[in-house]
Amino acid sequence: MIDYPRTYFGWSASSPADYADPRSGLVVHYNGPPTDLDGHAACVSYWKNTRGHHVDGRGWDDIGYSFGVSVEGGIFEGRGLRRYQAAQGTFSGNANYYSVTLMIGEGERPTDAQIDGVRRLRAWLRSDHGVSGTVLGHRDFVSTSCPGSVLYALVENGTFTQAPGAPPGSGDEMLGLKVGDSGSRVTLLQQMLTYAGASLPEYGVDGSYGQETSAALLWVRKQMGSKATDGDTVTSYALAQLHAQIARHQSAAVG
Ligand SMILES: [Zn+2]
Repeated sequence: MIDYPRTYFGWSASSPADYADPRSGLVVHYNGPPTDLDGHAACVSYWKNTRGHHVDGRGWDDIGYSFGVSVEGGIFEGRGLRRYQAAQGTFSGNANYYSVTLMIGEGERPTDAQIDGVRRLRAWLRSDHGVSGTVLGHRDFVSTSCPGSVLYALVENGTFTQAPGAPPGSGDEMLGLKVGDSGSRVTLLQQMLTYAGASLPEYGVDGSYGQETSAALLWVRKQMGSKATDGDTVTSYALAQLHAQIARHQSAAVG
């Protein structure tokens, strides 16, 4: 279901964009730069401004996205149902998949309500409109940072394909990663390690969990007093210590 239809934003009830009948799934997007949105009114302004950028700035027929999910978890209508949309970057992507943007950017995390909003949207598209339950990220279509490492890790670990109301699972994307793994969840881990003050001098944030990443995780754990002897696996203890060390490191940096 749509929580806030187009008319709520002062737009025509149905989009002027071309007809399409997307059935292949839902594609997750983000804003790019951080949005720092903090409530419903801010998200409404953001949604109206986004349409302004797309129509006046880019000359599109309408806002590019099918849907948006606000930081409070509200499902905002964009082009809505049965419209070709402009977010995926390929003709078939735009014709066959719906798009949803979470109104956050780089370095920001979705709220639990936002995660559940995506789940509610997916469940409704599936049950009422014959859309596949597949959830992908923008970067599965074209080369782009979108939807960012945080959201893409949630795409990959199946967080968005859970039933609405299931535990949010946010923050657990890195659990169980181990030496030899690669991909966006490892990229996220490596970013978090650098936020905790660890260094990755040779390979940097490369999305590949090798000895350097293992050593950085062990260093973080030792800062928190752990007796661990290697950082080869992201256990729940390691994850808790990583978050604690980030908090300590960030407050030391500010103080
Ligand atoms: Zn995107």
